[in-house]
Amino acid sequence: MSIVSSILSDLHDPFKDQLPAQPNTTEGQDFLRQLSNTEQPDPSQKGTRALWYPLAKVYPQKMKTRGKYPNGYPEGAVVHFTAGVDGTGALEQGIVNGFSYFLITRDGTVWQAAPLDEWGFHAGPSTYPGLGNGISPKLVGIEMCTAGIVDPQPVVAGQAPMFKQWYERDPRKYLSAAEVRYSVKKDNIHSGYYHIYTPAQEHSLVGLLLWLKSNNPGVFSFDHVLGHDEICVPPGRKVDPGAALTMSMPEFRAFLKTQGPV
Ligand SMILES: [Zn+2]
Repeated sequence: MSIVSSILSDLHDPFKDQLPAQPNTTEGQDFLRQLSNTEQPDPSQKGTRALWYPLAKVYPQKMKTRGKYPNGYPEGAVVHFTAGVDGTGALEQGIVNGFSYFLITRDGTVWQAAPLDEWGFHAGPSTYPGLGNGISPKLVGIEMCTAGIVDPQPVVAGQAPMFKQWYERDPRKYLSAAEVRYSVKKDNIHSGYYHIYTPAQEHSLVGLLLWLKSNNPGVFSFDHVLGHDEICVPPGRKVDPGAALTMSMPEFRAFLKTQGPV
């Protein structure tokens, strides 16, 4: 077995050494309990749903929204990645382009730039059984900073494998194997090398999704927490989140159901 293929076989199992990034049941419950503080409205009180995630930083400029959600709140969420550099530039870019979404940077900071009763574009042409065509007016977007798909560089003897981001020209800034996950085609995941979400990002993503559900359990459904790669039209137009996320989207939905209110 070559060095590369042994590294790849390590990367190949997305669960190996990755799962600690996800809270276990106890941690997830503790996390929810931690969120149930006085600044959070009682989710059982109809009409008092919070429109801002208590743990988010509010971006000083609002993203462009197009109207109110039909049910006054997202019915689920679409998990994306930015395919770019880390930071709030993805919010500035989204504002210029007329999009709206949460953003989770690599340190796990959650940014919110529009209230939760207003929808904005983030998914483009899209469809999903039960949701019809055009998903943006029903599901809130969550962008996560990663470089996206990366290119493995030719292996140089005695040097660690490196992976090139599409935008990076400085080889010293290429990614190491520890920051990259390879996956074969599986569920929503297209085969390839992905710049992974950090544990802090996955922790924040899970926390946000559990809160979105607990804040309005009658409208928000874990069954409608979808990958952009699951809903894009035509299929294959988008590859996010793919293997940037620790698990495939069907596995992620099953995980969320074990953690939060159903
Ligand atoms: Zn996307």
